[in-house]
Amino acid sequence: MGHSALVLMIEDEEPIRRFLRATLESQGFRVRESGTAKDGVLQAVMHRPDLILLDLGLPDGDGLAVTKTIRKELASPIVVLSARGQESDKVAALDAGADDYLTKPFGVGELLARIRVALRHSALAGSGRSGETSVYEAEAGGRGLRIDPLARLVQVSEGGAAREVRLTPTEFKLLAFLARHAGKVLTHQMILKEVWGPQHQRDVQYLRVYAGELRKKLEADPAQPRFLVTEPGVGYRLCEPSSPAS
Ligand code: CA
Repeated sequence: MGHSALVLMIEDEEPIRRFLRATLESQGFRVRESGTAKDGVLQAVMHRPDLILLDLGLPDGDGLAVTKTIRKELASPIVVLSARGQESDKVAALDAGADDYLTKPFGVGELLARIRVALRHSALAGSGRSGETSVYEAEAGGRGLRIDPLARLVQVSEGGAAREVRLTPTEFKLLAFLARHAGKVLTHQMILKEVWGPQHQRDVQYLRVYAGELRKKLEADPAQPRFLVTEPGVGYRLCEPSSPAS
């Protein structure tokens, strides 16, 4: 199946790792784990995760040093988890290059919200394209579709009533990519390269599955798609926005 965001957790307490893994996997994330500073840095460099959850108190080194080392190698967002709740500790972590800071014990809802925010920021920082932040709005067959890449919010409206559509990280990545190029045909290869990575350029079946899932969630009749249109033998196109993007 497709690639959802990869989270690396560097945390020496096994019960916390088990809890985090269960929580993250239930949300569709892929998870790698490490229990030491040295192995954590190695895994970060090797696997280039989309996000790192980092405990400050590790048996073989300080999380602040780990943050600095990782920061030299990659831009993945780092969310620090720590029992230290002092303002000065937070400042030190952020100064070292962490993106956010959670004090233990934390709630699952808060953790997931911080992860979403950190991933959103890194997606925006990595793109460098202004189109990435434009809101997309379209109407077809009496139904409205609104995609807000900044808020990671997708809404479908009918008869004046809008409802939020819940997408997996990969579904969102696919839809946001199509929305950035709305009205234009994107080839299977272009989409696969962007959403799943260059090594998956021939895996057209990924795309079919995900396009099918998106249609179920977005279209009034998934068999007669009005928003996500197939260009037979070529690829897909998201219908032209109905109003200028803001
Ligand atoms: Ca610890």
